[in-house]
Amino acid sequence: MGHSGQNLSPFLERRMAKPIHGLLDRLIEQFASAIALRAEQMFARSAAGRSSRLGAASLRLCPAPGCKNPGAGPRNRWFCRDHAKSVPVKEQKRILVERAKANQAAARIARASRGGRRLDMRCRVEGCKNTSRGPRFGYICDKHRSELTAKEQREARAKWNAAHQKAA
Ligand SMILES: [Zn+2]
Ligand SMILES: [Zn+2]
Repeated sequence: MGHSGQNLSPFLERRMAKPIHGLLDRLIEQFASAIALRAEQMFARSAAGRSSRLGAASLRLCPAPGCKNPGAGPRNRWFCRDHAKSVPVKEQKRILVERAKANQAAARIARASRGGRRLDMRCRVEGCKNTSRGPRFGYICDKHRSELTAKEQREARAKWNAAHQKAA
């Protein structure tokens, strides 16, 4: 190289093209493997998150009344180590049945109370067939909220409440 470089340059460029290509290939390879590694780490992390969430969901507390210990697995019927030993198996089974019944009853009550608390969305103005937007709007439909004063709306609501308490 040196002084006669001018003439050699096309040749050199062609020679240089290869190493540059190789360098690019290597860069791309490194980049790709970095991305692959990154993706692997992300998957691993999300998988870990999933399994820890699952772990939390499968962590059951000891069913013995008032006991806050985690259960010692399905073999112990999810009783903690203490209660699995101290409570006779017959009693453990009875507790489990009671709990299942209590859970069912609780679910039933929750369902019933939800149904019972279903809001009556009808407009409180007498004879109005419109639906209101609920308690935040005083159960008055849009039309009547624009037509009636606040006082009139209040009175309509009071009248409606009185009528419906009588009916109930
Ligand atoms: Zn226990
Ligand atoms: Zn109305």
